[in-house]
Amino acid sequence: MAGSNEATRISQSDPRGDYLAHRAEIDAAILSTLASGRYILGEQVAAFESEWAAYVGTTAAVGVGTGTDAIELALRALDICAGDTVITVANTAVATVAAIERAGASALLIDVDEATQTMSPRALQEAIARAGDRRLKAVVPVHLYGRSADLPAISAIAKQHQLKIIEDCAQAHGARINGRAAGTWGDAAAFSFYPTKNLGALGDGGAVVTNDASLAEKMRELRMYGWKERYVSDRAGINSRLDELQAAILRVKLRYLDRSNARRCQIADRYYTELAALPLRLPARSEDVQHVYHQFVIHLPERDKLRTYLQNEQIDTAVLYPIPIHLQPAYAGRIAVSGALTVTERIARELLCLPMHPYLGDDEVARVAAAIRTWCNA
Ligand SMILES: *Cc1c(COP(=O)(O)O)cnc(C)c1O
Repeated sequence: MAGSNEATRISQSDPRGDYLAHRAEIDAAILSTLASGRYILGEQVAAFESEWAAYVGTTAAVGVGTGTDAIELALRALDICAGDTVITVANTAVATVAAIERAGASALLIDVDEATQTMSPRALQEAIARAGDRRLKAVVPVHLYGRSADLPAISAIAKQHQLKIIEDCAQAHGARINGRAAGTWGDAAAFSFYPTKNLGALGDGGAVVTNDASLAEKMRELRMYGWKERYVSDRAGINSRLDELQAAILRVKLRYLDRSNARRCQIADRYYTELAALPLRLPARSEDVQHVYHQFVIHLPERDKLRTYLQNEQIDTAVLYPIPIHLQPAYAGRIAVSGALTVTERIARELLCLPMHPYLGDDEVARVAAAIRTWCNA
């Protein structure tokens, strides 16, 4: 592309864009929290918890330190512990598995579905059939890239085998399947507010949502040393609280979440149109899935070559995730895998996350698409 060397760089994500877009409101929220004198579990966290529960459509939300902690505390509140096995996938943030292990349980990794790249209900059924004397307790489906996993099928299987479901919703703020929100299918669901997520804080943050009041109560205790009353621990807990300043920031940004998800969908529509009929795979679409495009992910065998080409054209991309968890040094050889993770291993080599954030301009999306077309046609 002529003149591409002078073109401005297109970033893959843009958490700063979100701050700049709502700067006056965010600054005011921060200043008023600083002046309030309450810095831990004050009125901002309480207000955000009820606003977030209302947004997702559950009766309770519990603010915690990170998305990883949200998964761990949900598991612990459901009495999952050492000796128990929790089924999840290998194409996820390492956080999903780290949280299962921190709860004391063992993870059992299964393959994903070719079309959706989320947990395969068939692999789940096979893993249960093959579980032997493992104490299977729970399933953690991951709603990857903003697309809901197949919760209608997964919950039916989990129910049949009395397995708890903890949804990993870290990439699915506002996503739906059959009109029902990600986060309302399981016994509990974990959200992350890491800055680049669809709803991101300006630092770390997380929350668990649930419709079970006693489970929420237990998580409120667990996030603060296991206290039922002050200075008296009823159970062994940890310290993982959503920060009051981050809660104030999240309350501002939540007001714009639907708008920014709608912009992500608009950008995705443009990618679908402009990248149609090229020798690469676009994300699967179906009527019953309301995707929120945390990532827009294409697949092609020559992924690395295209990535280098785009880099030279000043276009940043990402690979989420380059190495399935069972092949990473910390887990290889010791983590349990059920069946061959054939699809997982292949897509890790072929996937590419295009620039995707609400502040991408139409001209930038067009530039990304044009560069990909040029590369494909070369
Ligand atoms: C980001 C993420 C997490 C972890 O969230 P943190 O807030 O960084 O701890 C867990 N699971 C998935 C799928 C994620 O994308």
